[in-house]
Parts: sequence; C-alpha cells; structure tokens
Amino acid sequence: MRLVLLGAPGSGKGTQAARLKTELGVPHISTGDMLRAAVAAGTPMGLKAKAVMDAGQLVSDDILLGMLGDRLTQEDAKVGFILDGYPRNLAQADALDQLLAKIDQPLDAVVKLKVPSEVIIGRCEIRFKAEARADDNPDTVRKRLGIYAEQTAPVADFYARRGKLQVVDGVGELNDVTARVKQALHCESVATNG
Ligand code: AMP
Repeated sequence: MRLVLLGAPGSGKGTQAARLKTELGVPHISTGDMLRAAVAAGTPMGLKAKAVMDAGQLVSDDILLGMLGDRLTQEDAKVGFILDGYPRNLAQADALDQLLAKIDQPLDAVVKLKVPSEVIIGRCEIRFKAEARADDNPDTVRKRLGIYAEQTAPVADFYARRGKLQVVDGVGELNDVTARVKQALHCESVATNG
C-alpha cells in the first residue's frame, strides 16, 4: 500500500500513520520527523532547516525532494509506505508523481483528515505544553494554518482530480478515526462472531 496522508498540522496524520503502519506492514515516512532528526543531529541541512521550521514556514522543495528520494528508494519502502507531511504544495505533488513514476510505484490512495481550525489550535496548544515544539506556539500555529490553506489545501484538489482522494472526519476518538481511515482504504478488519 502506497498511501499519502493529508491534513493540516495537528490533524492527526502522525498519530494515525503510527497506528496504521503495523496493520499495513509498511513504513511511516514523516518528512517533519526526518527534518527534526536532522536538526537534532546538527547536520548542515538540519542547521539550515531549523530557523525555517521554528518560524512555521516550509523548508525548500529541493531539500525535501532530495531527502524523500533517498528515503523512498530504501529497501523497507519497496513494499509501500505511508507518507505524512509530503506533499505540502503543488510543486511537491508534481515532484512526487515523477519520482514514483520513475521507480514504478504509483500511489494507491490519498486520505485527507478533515479537522476544523479551532480543534487544530486546541490540539497544538496541548502538544506545545507536552513536547515544547517551537512551531506549536499559538502564533506560529496560526501562521502554519495560513500556509496550509494557501499552499497545501490545493494538493487535495490535485489528487481529487485524479480520483485518488478520500476525505475522512478526523475528529473523535483515535480508534474511531483509525477505523474511518481503514474503511476508506477498504482494509477494515472483518467482524467475526467468535
Ligand atoms: P510536520 O511535523 O509535518 O508538521 O512538519 C514540521 C515542519 O517541518 C513544517 O512546519 C515545515 O517547516 C517542515 N516540513 C515538513 N514537511 C515539509 C514539506 N513537505 N515541505 C516543506 N517543509 C516541510
């Protein structure tokens, strides 16, 4: 299964991907996690990305594409992947299409987690208190939501036009949201009587 999870920051992409990866037997590839790892390791790319990330802006398309190209050609991604945090604009969506065509691994599905902004802001406040992520401070979250509306929301239309987009209600209990995503992917567990 080659799946892209779309949704605003704080919509639950990472949480749901972490739950789905075992079930689907594919790696969870989060570009945000990869960038945070590069920042923590102090690599030249991490040093360059840190200020941009802290300000809630998007890191350059070139950096992302290089990073993703390396990751998607690793052995574990040959069976598929759940992509979380990429693509974030139309140029990235085009680049992903080309990359996947080159390695002959087209996407199977795109699921967008739909969560209202007021719920997002509340969730990011909780995450800010728990994890102290600089980009979860309320002002930066508002900026990230603006960038999402402007640059990332059109990516959903891009996939809708290709008949690949499923929109799932991302509000509610974690288990319920996971069940909705699985239903959208037609991989819900079959209920048994025993
Ligand atoms: P995330 O954990 O997905 O919310 O990503 C955290 C931050 O990493 C974002 O606010 C961006 O600064 C950066 N980032 C992650 N993925 C991308 C991407 N596909 N394009 C540009 N920047 C990204």
